[in-house]
Amino acid sequence: MRVPFKNIRAVLFDAGNTLIYPDYAFVQKLLAERSAEVRIETLKQLEFEAKVAAQSSQVQKPWKEYFSHWLTSAGMSNETIPELLSILWNRHREKNLWSVLDEDAIKTLAELKRRHFLSGVISNSDGRVEKQLSNLGLSKYLDIILDSEIIGISKPDAGIFKIALNELDVKPDSTIFIGDSYKHDVVAAQQVGMHAILFDPLKKLEHHDCLRINRLTQVFDFI
Ligand SMILES: [Mg+2]
Repeated sequence: MRVPFKNIRAVLFDAGNTLIYPDYAFVQKLLAERSAEVRIETLKQLEFEAKVAAQSSQVQKPWKEYFSHWLTSAGMSNETIPELLSILWNRHREKNLWSVLDEDAIKTLAELKRRHFLSGVISNSDGRVEKQLSNLGLSKYLDIILDSEIIGISKPDAGIFKIALNELDVKPDSTIFIGDSYKHDVVAAQQVGMHAILFDPLKKLEHHDCLRINRLTQVFDFI
């Protein structure tokens, strides 16, 4: 049994790989058309590994690094990668690829609202996160949606967290931030004085010294 935090007023979330995921079924179909049958569960695991690799590689184009890693680990040859990257990039431009809701996202946000908590999203995105969350039916539960592209400040910079605190008129120690990146979400939120919880649905981040949940609904153990 967890000891809940005291006096929590707001619960804020990262978006990508916390509330919304890439369209695994679209990627699965691309692979199947090239004779690679990969299960969605396997694609999720491989995507996680690709994300970790891209984050640690310090390359100029993490998007390219991330998808190349993901596709090759799923069985695609190096020669097919440029064509696949262009298909994925076009799809992402037309219709944000991060388009699949976490299975607990709506349930969790609706329950937060029912219990009169403020909630919101702080996302390192490309200017489209608000529209995407609205299309997916999440905006009505959210009091604030901050997109780094629009604000001009990205996580882990404290500035974007401070804007959220100001706009919601809450103190950092009355706020919980939940996200899947130890550096950009957990450590960054803690630096402004928020409570932070690492979202680890695949249970692969147990080496980090912080609070962790693997289902979004587990936030209710803390409030
Ligand atoms: Mg994320």
